Formats: sequence, structure tokens, C-alpha cells
Amino acid sequence: MNLENDNMSKKFVLVLNCGSSSIKFSILNVEDGIKYLYGSSYMLYTNNFKIKWNICGTQYTKQFNKEMSYSDMIDYILKDILLKVSSTILRKIIGIGHRVVHGGDELKNSVIVDQYVINCIKKLSYLAPLHNYNSYLGIKHSIRLLSDISSKNIAVFDTAFHQTIPEEAYLYAIPYEFYTKHKIRRYGAHGISHNYITYETSKILNKSINSLNIISCHLGNGSSIAAIKNGKCIDTSMGFTPLEGLVMGTRSGDLDPSIIFFMNRQLQFGMDKISNILNKKSGLLGLNEKSSDCRYAVNNYSTDNASKRSIDVFCYKLSKYIGSYATLMDNRLDALIFTGGIGENSYFVRQLTVKNLSCIGLYLDERLNSLKSITSNFYYINQVNTIPIIVIQANEDLAIAKEVVTLINKI
Ligand code: ADP
Repeated sequence: MNLENDNMSKKFVLVLNCGSSSIKFSILNVEDGIKYLYGSSYMLYTNNFKIKWNICGTQYTKQFNKEMSYSDMIDYILKDILLKVSSTILRKIIGIGHRVVHGGDELKNSVIVDQYVINCIKKLSYLAPLHNYNSYLGIKHSIRLLSDISSKNIAVFDTAFHQTIPEEAYLYAIPYEFYTKHKIRRYGAHGISHNYITYETSKILNKSINSLNIISCHLGNGSSIAAIKNGKCIDTSMGFTPLEGLVMGTRSGDLDPSIIFFMNRQLQFGMDKISNILNKKSGLLGLNEKSSDCRYAVNNYSTDNASKRSIDVFCYKLSKYIGSYATLMDNRLDALIFTGGIGENSYFVRQLTVKNLSCIGLYLDERLNSLKSITSNFYYINQVNTIPIIVIQANEDLAIAKEVVTLINKI
């Protein structure tokens, strides 16, 4: 199949997703969602990086056995991969979409990037310390290196979908002036994914978005859950920053703030050290003391107590959130959705999580749960005549690309 010829008349969007430890990139057609190119960088272990990408079905890999800064990695992806793509395709790129985790109180919707937006994204790094600065770097490098392809850089925010969360769910019970003066509130994250899931679920269930009640679980290195009622987000587990909520690869999720005072006063740890522990040394990694990779803990669940403990805590916390979010749905939950690397691939995590949720009408079909659909980007895993439980493939790139087109069409 010659995708290049097939794509002659099509328009493309380049998507750059500069995450906490990886960079994902793609060039895709917005109408059919087909990716001409997609790839991702991986940090295998310190000083050992790999980038894998696929162009029209052909797989490429580049391994680096030396130290690479995040900027070096972006430069390689832009100069040595994306700019070397066929000029026919490059000419058809209408805009560049950047995933940005935190838009804070200033950037509530997708925007065309200008200097004000760049400054805001950089400034808001304190709200998403593992992410925003990397997005800022991605945008800077893209403006520097890709201006001949497109001058239209669009920032799409993970916090935007959560703007509909009501006050009772976004306020913390601390003196109110911390909200009014310092904008301390729940912002949430992963909104691009939860928004995409809402849209896809409405198509799958053939139900209008405006009357759709779902719980969306995005489980990856970062994990979050969202309660979506009548198509709008009404609560989500990530908070002021992406540190709150579920157990994650290296992030603690919810904890009693007094633990921070204890670390500081009793253990004499400085704030940077505490932040590093909670963001980079906790979660699955902290609990099993070996790996943040969920696959590792799942594969060793029955032979290694530490792995078992980390998965048990992960699933327990997730079940608890699902149970509490079900109570927000006015007696009608249309579906529970699993997405993200763990949500899509770990039948075991889904099984452990749903097993205690029969009290809210959720019953997993173990056979369906252990099968993986190869023909579709979604599959049902619930028992017949019970609330749909659906695994849906995450596709943040497509959601970002659609935002890019919407904004460009408004110019
Ligand atoms: P990110 O948040 O970086 O986008 P992903 O959504 O790609 O992350 O998810 C990565 C996580 O998915 C890793 O923890 C990985 O171990 C986990 N994962 C992938 N496949 C499986 C599997 N078969 N079983 C358990 N975990 C898996």
C-alpha cells in the first residue's frame, strides 16, 4: 500500500506530545485518523535512550548509548525524523499541535501559540513539574526548526476538559483566599484523553453526548479517573497538580499532607527532596521498590510480594474511586471505560479492580476481559445485561489534531 500516494489530496497535522519521560510524535490525517507516521522515545535506563517510529507501516529504531538531554531528544526527533519525511507530506501539514498538561487559570481552551502563551506555559511549570517545562521546550524547538512546515503552533491543554467541574468538586477545604488570591483549586489533567473517550463512548453506545454518564479510567504511567455526567466532566482525581489521585508509576497519588510535615520536620528532608520522593520515587515504584512499569509488577504478582503489594494498592484505590464516582451519576451509569497503557493491556488490573464493584452493578466477563480485540479500537468486557465495561484505545493524537483543525478553521 502506498500511503504517500493515497494521501496526496489529504491534509495532515503534526502532533508533538512532550511527556514527563517520553516524547510521542505523529503526523496524521484528521478526517480518517490514519497516521502517516508515529513514534515515541523511551528512556530505557539512565543514559540509554531509544526512539522507535513507524512510517507507513515500516518500523525504524534508533538507540543512543549516551546521555541525552530532553532538548537533544526533541532536536533529534524534529531534525532527523520529522524533517526527513517526504516533502510531499510535509507540504500538506496545516498545523502543529502540542499537548500541554497545565493551562492553569489563564489558558482554559486550546490556543494558537504566541509569546504570551509560551510564557504562561513555562510559568505554569510549578503546577505540572514533570510536564509543562517539557511542553515549553517542545514548542520552542518546533518554532525554531519547523517554521518552514507550519507557523501555526497550537497548544491543547489537559486541564481544559475539566473546566466544567463544579465548585464543590474543585475547591479544597482550606481558607478560601488561597483560591481567590492564589488560584489553588482542582484543575485535573488527562482531559484530552477523557474528552476523546467521552466522544468515542457516545459513538459506541449510540447515545448523545449530552445525556452520557460514564466513568473514564485513563491508566498509564500517569493515571487519572474522571466522572462525566451528561457529557461534562464533574469530578476528576488529579488535582491542583497531576500528583493527586490514583497510584501512578512514580507518583504517590492521594496522601495525608501531614506526611510532608513529618518528612520535613522529623526527617529533616528539604522541600525539593520531598517533591522528588512524591513525584519520582513513589507510586508503583515506591511500593515495590523495583519498577514503575506496571508490566513488571503484574508479571511478578504471584511470585514477588512487593509486586503484589504495589498492584493491590493500585487496584484498591482505583476501585474506591470508581465506587465513589458512581454515586455522582444520578442512578444511571452508562459505562465504565478503561484506556491508557495499563487500562488497555492489563486484563489482570481490570479484573482485580472490578471484582469488588458488583454492588454498583459492574460485572466483568473473565473470558472477554482476557481476550484482546484485533479488529476494532474498542471491546466490551462486561457480562451480558450488565452495565457496559469497555476498553477503548487511547488516541490523544487524534483529539489534539481535531483541536488544531478547529482553531485553524476559525482564523
Ligand atoms: P504514558 O502515561 O507514559 O502515556 P502509557 O499509557 O503508554 O503511558 O502506559 C504505560 C504503562 O502501561 C506502563 O506502566 C506499562 O507497564 C503499562 N503496560 C503496558 N502493557 C501492559 C500490560 N500488558 N500489562 C500491564 N501493564 C502494561
